[in-house]
Amino acid sequence: MLNREEWLPLARKLDWDYSYVREEEVFPEEISGHPWLPHSEWKDWEESFKTSYREYVDNQYEKDMAVYAVRDAVGRIENLQKLASPWMNSLKIHAAALPLAEFTGAIGNLRGARFGRDSAWRTMATFGALDEYRHTQIPLLLFHQLVRFDSQFDWAHKFYHTNNWFAIAARHFFDELTLGQNAIEFHIATNFILETGFTNLQFVGLASLAREAGDHMFERMVTSIQTDEARHAQIGHPVLATVMKHDPEYVQYLVDKWFWRNWRVFSILTGVSIDYLTALDQRPYSFKEFMEEWIIDQFLRTLDEFGLQKPWYWELFLEELDIYHHMIYASAYSYRATLWFNFVIPGPAERKWLGQKYPKYWDDMDAVWKQVSERWKTVGPGPENEFAVHGTSLPAFCDLCQLPLSAGTPSKNTARVIVHEGGKYIFCSEPCQWIFLREPERYANHKDVVKRVLSGEAPADLPGLLTEYFRLTPETWGKDVHHGDYEWLRTPQTSGT
Ligand code: FE
Ligand code: FE
Repeated sequence: MLNREEWLPLARKLDWDYSYVREEEVFPEEISGHPWLPHSEWKDWEESFKTSYREYVDNQYEKDMAVYAVRDAVGRIENLQKLASPWMNSLKIHAAALPLAEFTGAIGNLRGARFGRDSAWRTMATFGALDEYRHTQIPLLLFHQLVRFDSQFDWAHKFYHTNNWFAIAARHFFDELTLGQNAIEFHIATNFILETGFTNLQFVGLASLAREAGDHMFERMVTSIQTDEARHAQIGHPVLATVMKHDPEYVQYLVDKWFWRNWRVFSILTGVSIDYLTALDQRPYSFKEFMEEWIIDQFLRTLDEFGLQKPWYWELFLEELDIYHHMIYASAYSYRATLWFNFVIPGPAERKWLGQKYPKYWDDMDAVWKQVSERWKTVGPGPENEFAVHGTSLPAFCDLCQLPLSAGTPSKNTARVIVHEGGKYIFCSEPCQWIFLREPERYANHKDVVKRVLSGEAPADLPGLLTEYFRLTPETWGKDVHHGDYEWLRTPQTSGT
């Protein structure tokens, strides 16, 4: 029998010449991606981690068993009920956003499995698709038991199929990144930017956050998923290296575009989880520190290795690290009934900590929370007063990222309006506008919530929008975890400090 070293190199490379079709017909540029190159340019494509189907299945089986063992030991509903309520709300965000986004990754990988330009690439993408099914199924399985415990977890399972504004933003991102994508852009944007740059490290960060929060089930789940990501993220590197030889400007464009689009999504998912929905004594670091240590240093080093520049908006991005997710959290708190999880107001101790971690703009944010606290104090705590401390008019959304116009600071909004082919478009920031104008044919026809309201597709009043269009109910829509009943708010001398 041949040993592994003898057969694997042969089995990895199974490309053949076509006799009755042309290569361009087998791999059309529209779906295989730009630049279109003959196979001779791709034939040396090599994955750094080599595996066979048999090894893959054995490995994945072991990993699944390890997850089940932790679930049996500490993942029962009575274990999860003991977790702090802000953390439970961070879980509701992930229960909604993670599984079906991972599923779109399966479809993107399957595109690479058919339209990737070398057989070794196609094989790796097939394993990548199997990984992403796993990342869909594991969170669905683990979060499912929470459906009975809290109806917001039930709603989280419906999230991706609703027209909730955050679901619209998530689909706008993932549909472009994974579902409707050609093989080259998919593998550069997903493997190289999202997975090498964000998810890998986000999962490392989330795992340590979960450990601090005492949530060993979630910790084990993301750690297990992360081991797959670390393997299949490697597909992106040789794809990028080949495209770099032929069209480096295009690669730079993809890097600039996708880093920004990822930043928008992850600043919310990770930023809010770390700086607001984890108890103060369980925060190992601030979101900004996490980004600086794990994402920025490493990402810049990787760009350098490939001869790429940092994105043109780098200074602006560094500015945003100090403020963007704080703005989003405050505006989401004001419109919490439009979401499916609950919020906490940062109390005096949290605000002091945030002020130390984010000295640059925290005074501005502090003023916002002071106002919110004062409002609760005036109307008094209680579930019946939720809407007395809530926004009433609909916020406006960015025509690229589909998120509320929350860039800039409370005193200086950076929203910008343009007219493109007779239509008016509004953007939260310069990079969002820049991405739109590079590929307007891709984005111009998309309708954000406000446009849907204006065209009569969605109800114009907030209650109608919440129940009929976002499919939320009084039970499932977001509230203040304490309905304004905070101990520090009752003691006059400490409020607002
Ligand atoms: Fe994944
Ligand atoms: Fe992935």
